[in-house]
Amino acid sequence: MNPVYRKAPPRPSAEAQRRLAYFNERRDAIVSTIRELVEIESPSDNKAAVHRMAEAVAQKFSQLGGNVKLKVNVRIHPAKDFGNHLQVDFPGNSAAKPVLLLGHYDTVYPLGTLAAMPCRVADNKLTGPGVLDMKSGIALMLHALAALQDWHKEDWHKADLPRPVTVLLVSDEEVGSDSSRPITESLAKKAAAVLVLEPSYGLQGAVKTARKGVGGYLVKVTGKAAHAGLDFQKGVNAILELARQIEKISGFTELKKGLTVNVGIVSGGSRTNVVPAEAAAQVDVRIARMKDAAGIDRKMHSLRAFNRKCKIEITGGINRPPMERTAGVAALYVQAAAIARELGWKLGEAAVGGGSDGNFTAGLGIPTLDGLGGVGDGAHAPHEHILISELPRRAALIAGLIELC
Ligand SMILES: [Zn+2]
Repeated sequence: MNPVYRKAPPRPSAEAQRRLAYFNERRDAIVSTIRELVEIESPSDNKAAVHRMAEAVAQKFSQLGGNVKLKVNVRIHPAKDFGNHLQVDFPGNSAAKPVLLLGHYDTVYPLGTLAAMPCRVADNKLTGPGVLDMKSGIALMLHALAALQDWHKEDWHKADLPRPVTVLLVSDEEVGSDSSRPITESLAKKAAAVLVLEPSYGLQGAVKTARKGVGGYLVKVTGKAAHAGLDFQKGVNAILELARQIEKISGFTELKKGLTVNVGIVSGGSRTNVVPAEAAAQVDVRIARMKDAAGIDRKMHSLRAFNRKCKIEITGGINRPPMERTAGVAALYVQAAAIARELGWKLGEAAVGGGSDGNFTAGLGIPTLDGLGGVGDGAHAPHEHILISELPRRAALIAGLIELC
């Protein structure tokens, strides 16, 4: 039996109850913000589409604070081959280092997906492309920040936030974050902590305190073409060579270390009656510990042809470092769990195999907590959805973390 249910859940404090009630009242407003964002399709590889999304989100962030004139600073980072990245800085009521709220507004779904996978509410679920990964996360940022302004506007000047906050939303996370990575890293270095509003883990909404690092390699083999009937012996079969390499590469997996090597795509050959001159494999590598990065990278790049008549070329490397559960990450989790307890809920944590931009910030040693966004299932799949009933306490958790971390 799950230990979470063995005892009665913790009782929310009076202040926590007030905050939960606040977000419960605004639950439909959060849903409609999510819906607006989902209904602007934003595949990573369509610059015009992600641009529209960036404009819409920028406008929403600049409207925060209602009638109060805020010194919100919206900054667009232009990207050549991808959509622009959006940075929003909110002044704070203290000299504390800012907290960085990190996320992305691109999705894996091509334009037109919405027609087959509409944004709908049914039985506590909100469905649609990117609803979990991670448009609900963006909506939660907006509503948590609006609430903090609202709660503190009597105490402080012009609805400043309790501390400076920087929001960074990138357009290329689903395709490796090459163009946004330097921006993410430079903002993280200035932050006290990074809160990543990627989807949470499982239907209990656990946060992510460890993520594997990710690498990608292309192994290309060149042999020699020949007629399979007339000149069989003059040919050098690139597929055969690649098959032997695949066996070897797959042997690099070390499950105990959390190191996996997956040959995911192979191609090669032209016709059955031709000895194939070309073959290639695309390889996905995952590492749980940074100290394993150099070793596996060296192994991949030292592959040599079994058949000396073949040429073998290896390109690629480790793209995202692992997010390790450092002391800084663990402390941030403890803080989040304490806030959740106040709210009457036991917040779990999980280590996952997938990477996010949180890997970059944790890799720099900045305390990072990931998976703070929507609770649901089916990221990148036709049944992608979030649970609507989870939104209020999620928003309350994020608001609490912004104040305290
Ligand atoms: Zn994501």
